Amino acid sequence: MAKERRRAVLELLQRPGNARCADCGAPDPDWASYTLGVFICLSCSGIHRNIPQVSKVKSVRLDAWEEAQVEFMASHGNDVARDTYESKVPPFYYRPTFSDCQLLREQWIRAKYERQEFTHPDKQEPYSAGYREGFLWKRGRDNGQFLSRKFVLTEREGSLKYFNRNDAKEPKAIMKIEHLNATFQPAKIGHPHGLQVTYLKDNSTRNIFVYHEDGKEIVDWFNALRAARFHYLQVAFPGASDADQTEGFRKRWFTMDDRRLMYFKDPLDAFARGEVFIGSRESGYTVLDGLPPSTQGHHWPHGITIVTPERRFLLACETETEQRAWVEAFRKVVDRPMLPQEYAVEAHFKHKP
Ligand SMILES: [Zn+2]
Repeated sequence: MAKERRRAVLELLQRPGNARCADCGAPDPDWASYTLGVFICLSCSGIHRNIPQVSKVKSVRLDAWEEAQVEFMASHGNDVARDTYESKVPPFYYRPTFSDCQLLREQWIRAKYERQEFTHPDKQEPYSAGYREGFLWKRGRDNGQFLSRKFVLTEREGSLKYFNRNDAKEPKAIMKIEHLNATFQPAKIGHPHGLQVTYLKDNSTRNIFVYHEDGKEIVDWFNALRAARFHYLQVAFPGASDADQTEGFRKRWFTMDDRRLMYFKDPLDAFARGEVFIGSRESGYTVLDGLPPSTQGHHWPHGITIVTPERRFLLACETETEQRAWVEAFRKVVDRPMLPQEYAVEAHFKHKP
């Protein structure tokens, strides 16, 4: 009987939704939470073990299964759990995979099952309200010591600021959301909750390194930054697609910051896949409606061709409205004479590999 029950559980693993860990997507999970009804990998089962009030785990292959537990797993499973516990995950919220750090995976699991943030959207306020302030440990520039600093994130102002003293009126730094990215770098920072924030200042990349002792706090900061960036991109730029002659069109997210057109595979990617400098008409830059006849332009009625002294960049928008908005934005840039410092930026782009 015990053998049959184990075989029945093993058979459940063959169902499509159960072929990957319910929490991190790792293939061939062979552990299960028999109180939540999900199949999970060994690594995630260790995290579930720390929240016994919500989740109780068993090995599919090694442990004994009771009849009621087998039935519960059969009537639930990963697809059902996803529909329940992930029904309201915000689009900006970072869903970790098995290659992500322990902190991100643990907080994702706790957010889903313990705090039930994605079934109760009112619990998402810490990262979706558009404003957040609090203290973080920030590594000092000179001696590498971590000091407590007040941080303020305002979506309305489009900025993240920090203050050297709590009563300081002027922030020590103002980082603009549009140039800001955050990634967890526990090894580099030497703390399991270490977060690297990258931003642009005077055309060069700067980093700050922060952490919070509480895992939920720092992951909330991380998702609040993603939310701010997501909303900024949503408001500032419509979606568009790029193309090159050999690979055809791939969907990419574009942002334009003055004369730099950047494209991303995903709006929240930390680094641009590519950048195009758009100079002025006098220096050989032109923007044309449509695509060259040599391309399969008929598939892409809302095309744009950007001609630079070196090459052509072909873009296609999904709608005519988007195409018009982009062409107008590009033309404004091209029509404006270049400033002396912009020649330096152009030269920098030309020397990029
Ligand atoms: Zn997993």
